Amino acid sequence: MPGWFARLRERRERRIAQRRAIDDALWLEALATLPFVARLPAPDLAELRRLASLFLDEKEFSGAGGLEVTDAIAVRIAVQACLPVLRIGLQPYRSFVGIVVHPDEVVAPREVMDDDGIVHQYDEVLTGEAMGGGPLMLSWTDVRDAGESADWAYNVVIHEFAHVLDMADGSEPDGVPPLATLPERQRWLSLLEAEYATFCQWVDDGGDTVLDPYGAEGIDEFFAVAVEAFFVASEAMRAEHPELYELFAGYFRQDPASLNA
Ligand SMILES: [Zn+2]
Repeated sequence: MPGWFARLRERRERRIAQRRAIDDALWLEALATLPFVARLPAPDLAELRRLASLFLDEKEFSGAGGLEVTDAIAVRIAVQACLPVLRIGLQPYRSFVGIVVHPDEVVAPREVMDDDGIVHQYDEVLTGEAMGGGPLMLSWTDVRDAGESADWAYNVVIHEFAHVLDMADGSEPDGVPPLATLPERQRWLSLLEAEYATFCQWVDDGGDTVLDPYGAEGIDEFFAVAVEAFFVASEAMRAEHPELYELFAGYFRQDPASLNA
């Protein structure tokens, strides 16, 4: 039976990939703006293109704030979203369908209640947001500038999809993606917690970090900024966090720093 299922799925995916094939001009345009993708070997690029086609078929894009989501915009998002799951597949992304693209960052009104029961209102500036069950929000300006912002280890699409991976095991965001066994999960958590504690200390001390200091906000944010850096500033991330790099390389089954040689 599993063989039969697999063949059926393969056939279905092949049909979709053909129907939703990304045309050459859009594909080359996306690669030209994304150096951390363009450096992949040819077989990986072919698989990424196939996954991105399936992703485009499964997700529903909508524009907000007057933005029209063109094919070029959707492809640029799909390619970056699929990079982390190149060897994992789209399953962890299937908890939601909608992707809302804003022209630029969004100011979201927030409320928190303090220990005395007093409600404080403030504005939070968002370049992206991933919520359990979706939709996922992205700022086009930040998506568009991903090529340049890779220099400072910043990538909004990979950041938000790292949160999706984190939530894919059904837990609250805790920096742990779906793992097969409990010992794997425990090993992951103990390494991540140790790295997070060291990172928060660096940030507190005002030290320079490869990872976005925003990662000190919580262990889930630390995971997301570390995944961004792993894919777009790979060598620098490996130099600063060698053990975390190895952990990610095992999970994602990718070794992006080796591609820079
Ligand atoms: Zn985040």
